[in-house]
Amino acid sequence: MPHLPNRRWRRRVPAAVAAAAATVLLVSPASAVTPQAAAPAGPAGQAADLGRLAGEETSVVEVLLADTAELDRLVATGVDLDHEVSRTETGIVAHAVVTPNEAASLKAMGYRLGEVLFRPEDSANRVAEREATITQHAAENRAFTATLAADPDASDVKIIRADYYTSGTSQILSVEAKWAQGQTSTSALTVARDSGPGTAIGSGGTQTISRFVDAGVYLYHRGASTVTTRPDRIQITSPTGDVATATVKEWLPIPADDPEGAGYQKDFVASYLTPTELYARIRQLAAAYPGLAEIVELPYKTNGYRRKAQTVLGTANASRVAVDSHAWGHEGGNDIAVTLADPGAANRPLAVTVTGTEIRVDLATNAAGTVTSTAAQVVAALNAEAGSLVQAYTYRGSTGTGVVAPAARTALTDGLRAPASVSRDPHPVYAIRIGKTRDGSKPGVLAYAQEHAREWVPPLVTIETAERLLRNYAHDGRTKQLLNNLDIWIAPSINPDGGHYSFYDFNSQRKNMTNHCALTGSADALSRNSWGVDNNRNYTEYSLFDGYSGASDSCTSGTYAGPSELSEPENKNLDWLASRSNIKFSMNLHSSGNYFMWSPGAYTDAGRVSAPRPTLAEESFFWGASSRILTAIKRHRNMAVTPARTGPISDVLYSAAGNSGDMLWYKYGIYAWNFEVGTSFQPTWDEAHAETMEFSNGLVELMRVAHDFANDRQRPESTLAVKPSSTPGMVNVTFEATEPAAVFYTLGGTTPTYSSTLYASAGIREGGETLTVPAGTTVQWFSVDAAGNVENNYTPNGTAKNFRKGSAVLPTS
Ligand SMILES: [Zn+2]
Repeated sequence: MPHLPNRRWRRRVPAAVAAAAATVLLVSPASAVTPQAAAPAGPAGQAADLGRLAGEETSVVEVLLADTAELDRLVATGVDLDHEVSRTETGIVAHAVVTPNEAASLKAMGYRLGEVLFRPEDSANRVAEREATITQHAAENRAFTATLAADPDASDVKIIRADYYTSGTSQILSVEAKWAQGQTSTSALTVARDSGPGTAIGSGGTQTISRFVDAGVYLYHRGASTVTTRPDRIQITSPTGDVATATVKEWLPIPADDPEGAGYQKDFVASYLTPTELYARIRQLAAAYPGLAEIVELPYKTNGYRRKAQTVLGTANASRVAVDSHAWGHEGGNDIAVTLADPGAANRPLAVTVTGTEIRVDLATNAAGTVTSTAAQVVAALNAEAGSLVQAYTYRGSTGTGVVAPAARTALTDGLRAPASVSRDPHPVYAIRIGKTRDGSKPGVLAYAQEHAREWVPPLVTIETAERLLRNYAHDGRTKQLLNNLDIWIAPSINPDGGHYSFYDFNSQRKNMTNHCALTGSADALSRNSWGVDNNRNYTEYSLFDGYSGASDSCTSGTYAGPSELSEPENKNLDWLASRSNIKFSMNLHSSGNYFMWSPGAYTDAGRVSAPRPTLAEESFFWGASSRILTAIKRHRNMAVTPARTGPISDVLYSAAGNSGDMLWYKYGIYAWNFEVGTSFQPTWDEAHAETMEFSNGLVELMRVAHDFANDRQRPESTLAVKPSSTPGMVNVTFEATEPAAVFYTLGGTTPTYSSTLYASAGIREGGETLTVPAGTTVQWFSVDAAGNVENNYTPNGTAKNFRKGSAVLPTS
């Protein structure tokens, strides 16, 4: 259900709703081919299954499109699209995540495919790289311990860096050190400072540094503190009594206007992290900073990284028999096996024998000794005799009239390969809540990642940001200001089941793991890599269920919207987070494409009518805040998010019915942005690391935007600009404001109120409109900024008089 736009922090301002006019009519969707082994196409207008076969891997492939209408038609197939759409002189290039069979289906539907951009081996290389990094860090720890064993006089603590910074009048000492017990002991280390050359250790005071652990492996201790004199030497005495000393090095002075002050700590990720590791990481952080952070378990557990054990016996559809365990695979389902035996004798009846978890089907034979049991008969016999262990069914709605082929003993399996350390139970979803005051009284900011499972960089951006906020609090004044005045919620993985599946089983997993397919459809084992709900299509606003485009009702589609709005626990959790009444800003982190977007995110199929656009003031604020955030991103390595990739989702990407950003904006009135981090789902580590650093810059800047917004008591000021018109007797009028603001105006002398005309933007992605009015017209107006501050302290109740007045006459020069 779409809600009317609701601005919780601007209650005095009525929402102005202006739906964009319909401009483009869609051509009717191309009729779909019936791909190999795919479910039958749905009724007209519904998406067909493109046919992702069991065991097929996916690649990211360019789809070359003529125009937006063809892009919309492609989206309507329910194909799994990357968040990347480039508009070129010759047309549009989108990126599809498809298997070879799906690619063949697209070609058969008339789509032109371009280059292959990302192959299965690329994912495999990323996983191998991650494992190698973790192994290497563990090996370094062992090597350090080994040197201690070889040399009893060596210290079990070594100092890696000791850097002294200045910025204005502040002085900072940053220290990194490795301790041999760091993997097992959570103790902090104490650093004693001298107070200059020749002075005693300890005369400059002490500071503590805390453990830095990534992917479960201890790397080193690190931390920064303010100091009052420049130390020359430091000494660390480890908890075992061993000692290390080092000379302090001078680091470059930090310019006073740099938002990251002297000694600002960053760079807290060393490898990709699974959801289990992400949650462990925020738990460690909350434990290390109990006064500043806490872990919140969100109210809904996922359906779990678990499946029923399954098999499909046979090859021809009419003679296939699908068998699913009742028990989850890890709870006994994986122990079940089925044999379809040829009795090797004439005139035998169909018989099922269950011995423990072994199910033996003796197939019926005729007088010649030939097997005669059909799939439907075997299914009925299995359900009658082994129904306490398994559920059998014919293949995808087949009547099952084909005679089955004998099959050797086949074990049912859930096909899940994650180590036992990954829980198979319904998984709790965690957020870390950061701030000095966490009672809801401070303005809230929400950042969340991994709605889409395979997007491995966005969660790292949230972790890096949480680390920066907490580890810089004590010595960085600007960070302290943020944490003292904001209530920050960070949820690093909204979809942990899909996330685990993408690391251990199917790297291209986009959705959650829940199988909503019917037994007569694609519920069997062969579709297991196509199941799941697209968590970013299951929300309540402008959804598939409301008639909006860019989501599918097919349970195997990449953009499956689910059986109903908020059907999924992952989505209920985000809805719960967004309903915290103090949250005013949010960032939904995805990859890839280097986009930066906001609402509206959807339009209708019919007539391409978009969800209501933000008002001019709101859109101005989106743009104004965005320019700050994008500047911060660029600061890392001078790579920019281009203006062409900044703006409302439905302008710069494609329609995405029921996405989370729209729910947060329209239902909860949250200024909701979406990052599309980087250039691919699973880039090489060097690139992933750089993307994490730059987008964390942007996410921290969002905190600063929120902080500044909350403290905005500045009233906007606006002016009337009058220019000549080509029409005799008329002039052109525009308004300009000192900050993002809405202008309400009247022409002809009536008192302006919130019911007066709202000065509108001239069109998509443009500035304020030009009004052409008779020369001499009386213009009366007021402006109000996004924080609700009204120009001139005017009360727009129809009786106050201190609104702005002007006359539409050309300035005399
Ligand atoms: Zn995504």
